[in-house]
Amino acid sequence: MIPAAFEYRRAASVDEAVALLAEGGEDAKLLAGGHSLLPLMKLRLARPSLLVDIDRAAGMRHIDERDGTLAIGALARHQDLATSDLLRARCPLLAHAASLVGDPQVRHRGTAGGSVAHADPASDLCAVLRCLDARMVVQGPAGRRTVAAADFFVGFLESALGADEVLVEILVPVPAAGHGWSYQKFTRRAIDWAIVGVAAVVEPSPEGIARAAVGLVNMGPTPLRAAAVEAALRGAPRTAVAAAAASAPEGTEPAADIHADAEFRAQLATVLTRRALEEALSRC
Ligand SMILES: Cc1cc2nc3c(=O)[nH]c(=O)nc-3n(C[C@H](O)[C@H](O)[C@H](O)COP(=O)(O)OP(=O)(O)OC[C@H]3O[C@@H](n4cnc5c(N)ncnc54)[C@H](O)[C@@H]3O)c2cc1C
Repeated sequence: MIPAAFEYRRAASVDEAVALLAEGGEDAKLLAGGHSLLPLMKLRLARPSLLVDIDRAAGMRHIDERDGTLAIGALARHQDLATSDLLRARCPLLAHAASLVGDPQVRHRGTAGGSVAHADPASDLCAVLRCLDARMVVQGPAGRRTVAAADFFVGFLESALGADEVLVEILVPVPAAGHGWSYQKFTRRAIDWAIVGVAAVVEPSPEGIARAAVGLVNMGPTPLRAAAVEAALRGAPRTAVAAAAASAPEGTEPAADIHADAEFRAQLATVLTRRALEEALSRC
């Protein structure tokens, strides 16, 4: 449980972090809250030769709104999201999901950016951000670029981030006025990772449902959208929810592990999707 030797540098800004990553090459890694990277290093599953600590880098811990878009600095802690008055008012799904991450210590140390960059399909925030059509702003030696969440998560613990890039902020379009939302997280104990989780946003219409977005946690190697459910609910009456939820496992590849087999996860996805949609509709 002792990491391999590494060099340690602290970056005071995003620019400095990018420069240090370039200096360190392929084996350099950013360190934010350390709650995913350090356990991997202790198990020697990660052996970076250089750690670039961005924990105190300036200008990366904001949560604000610009022209209908919420901007969340990569260093914002889960606790910052959970207790943000702005998020609670404008995007309660995000604040609520952050409040369910791990335990108080994890929420006070772990960062939104670290969660996203780590790209764990079991992460609460990654699937919620997929559901919310978030975009990731990343900075590398060539400048900044923006990557849609749909393109950001490319494989198990694998993102579109280059080895020389820093995730700077996460942009989330403010959900439509009058929307309903829900996050259903199935765990054995309150502080655990999700065995399966479902995030839902519903936009109502006078006839029923105008549009629904559904994000799935731990139903494949990346955070997923339940595309079949969303298609079934476009312009549908509220009574269509249970039948639509039954298609939640379509297109997923749930893993089998010590917590659940694939069949149980598929069943959970169906049940949690129905519950999430019903709760979201009750909030419209
Ligand atoms: C006991 C425990 C329970 C947990 N439970 C949950 C849970 O229930 N739900 C959940 O979603 N998560 C859970 N987590 C994970 C937690 O959310 C972590 O905070 C998160 O996964 C990583 O954030 P971090 O800031 O600690 O990142 P770090 O560990 O510092 O970094 C993680 C990875 O991201 C990279 N990275 C970090 N920041 C950036 C950046 N700005 N740009 C580019 N790359 C970056 C690092 O190089 C590293 O590869 C748990 C963790 C622990 C230890």
